[in-house]
Amino acid sequence: MADQPGTRGLIFNEPLLWEKGKNGRCAMSIPESDVPQAALPEHCRREDVRFPDLAELDVVRHYTRLSQWNFSIDSGMYPLGSCTMKYNPKLNEKLAASPSLANSHPMLEDGLNQGTIRLLYDLQEYLKAITGMAGVSLQPAAGAQGELAGMLMFAGYFKAKGEQRTKILIPDTAHGTNPASAALCGFKPVAVKSGAKGTLSAESVAALMDEQTAGIMITNPNTLGLFESEIQQIAEIVHGKGGLVYGDGANMNAVMGIVDIARTGVDVMHLNLHKTFSTPHGGGGPGAGPVLCVEKLLPFLPSPMAVRNDDGYAMVSVGEHSIGRLHAFHGNYSVLIRAYGYILSMGAENLKRASQYAVLNANYVKSRLTDVLHLPYDSACMHECVFSDKHLQKHKVMTLDLAKRLIDYGYHPPTIYFPLIVSGAIMIEPTETECKDDIDGFIEAVKTIVGEAESNPELLHEAPCISKVRRLDETQAARKPCLIG
Ligand SMILES: *Cc1c(COP(=O)(O)O)cnc(C)c1O
Repeated sequence: MADQPGTRGLIFNEPLLWEKGKNGRCAMSIPESDVPQAALPEHCRREDVRFPDLAELDVVRHYTRLSQWNFSIDSGMYPLGSCTMKYNPKLNEKLAASPSLANSHPMLEDGLNQGTIRLLYDLQEYLKAITGMAGVSLQPAAGAQGELAGMLMFAGYFKAKGEQRTKILIPDTAHGTNPASAALCGFKPVAVKSGAKGTLSAESVAALMDEQTAGIMITNPNTLGLFESEIQQIAEIVHGKGGLVYGDGANMNAVMGIVDIARTGVDVMHLNLHKTFSTPHGGGGPGAGPVLCVEKLLPFLPSPMAVRNDDGYAMVSVGEHSIGRLHAFHGNYSVLIRAYGYILSMGAENLKRASQYAVLNANYVKSRLTDVLHLPYDSACMHECVFSDKHLQKHKVMTLDLAKRLIDYGYHPPTIYFPLIVSGAIMIEPTETECKDDIDGFIEAVKTIVGEAESNPELLHEAPCISKVRRLDETQAARKPCLIG
């Protein structure tokens, strides 16, 4: 096996703490009490709490070993398409953990909480500058909740106009959260077929857009990593029928400082701060999905938001049309701090450069793997590229086998079987934070596996071979989740 990261070292087994405990073990020695024993007050528990008895070293090893079963961007390349698993500078972790920020109580009155509110206000201004939008709410706690906020704003907008619109257009490349968010707000999702090049054509939108349709949800660049180049014509068609354009900004990492989203015709959008603006994420959080909008939708933004007035900074509720609160207090504050730190430490020029490198790296991966993997849409990509398992099928090897085998070579697998319009999709997002050597290592690993598909397909069916666990029963895990360890 090639000398790849992850192919060496020790993987420890680890029992549950309950199995590890031994009567009488103790993590610390406390001196004998030198005061008389008192009777326990009435309400105190009398029976044994039944915690396992463990020494300090037992506990340290237990949690350290468990942590080593995890894979993270800090341990290796994580090219999980659509998720932007880039390296998150430790500076931002340090900022978010600094006591003066982390301990600021959200119920302090504004006059005593000026630093916190100023940070939120400045972040709002930065996000507006990065997207070209007129207003923003930092409340949503994830991209999906940003979408929900956006759809509630769409619904509020049409209600205020006295219009009943029942449908929404959603391209067949969209992330599953798009139709889910729209449906939660009472809109029926109508699929728009992507064209032969993997992008939307203005004609296909024109054919479906009518006055019962609230608008369109569009991801740009889309989930194939392709820029929706007809977005302005599409927005004109939607606006022409009185509709609105929602921009799913999860892929902002490709276009920071390059595309003015407002000028593309988007009315409402969200950003995934945890993806693009440096918060370690995965396994469901933490996140923040600020929702942004153009002038005419400002009254519908969630409340409250940070404003600057003559007395300094304040959190205020906005407008009678506001869709209201989506999160307690000020939103997911620690994620907002990281985004603030990331934007300030990068500066405008470097944010743009980050996007340029993200696009360069993805195109490098794309061009170096096209001779071994099938590329369903062959055009320059943005920050990610999508292959399929078409060339592997003759060896009876599938996308899943390739993904699992990458684990043996020390790489987190790419996103697989998404977007749905590519059968056997392999979606690779290297991000800007990987250097050429590391990307080359990944490319070599993929090439080696493609070679194995021909020479030893059985091996790939069994992969991963050297990981702690082999193939998991994913159906069983989804149908019968075991949530107690
Ligand atoms: C990640 C993602 C979402 C959802 O964002 P979450 O923060 O995971 O809720 C929506 N759309 C696209 C294109 C995404 O990649």
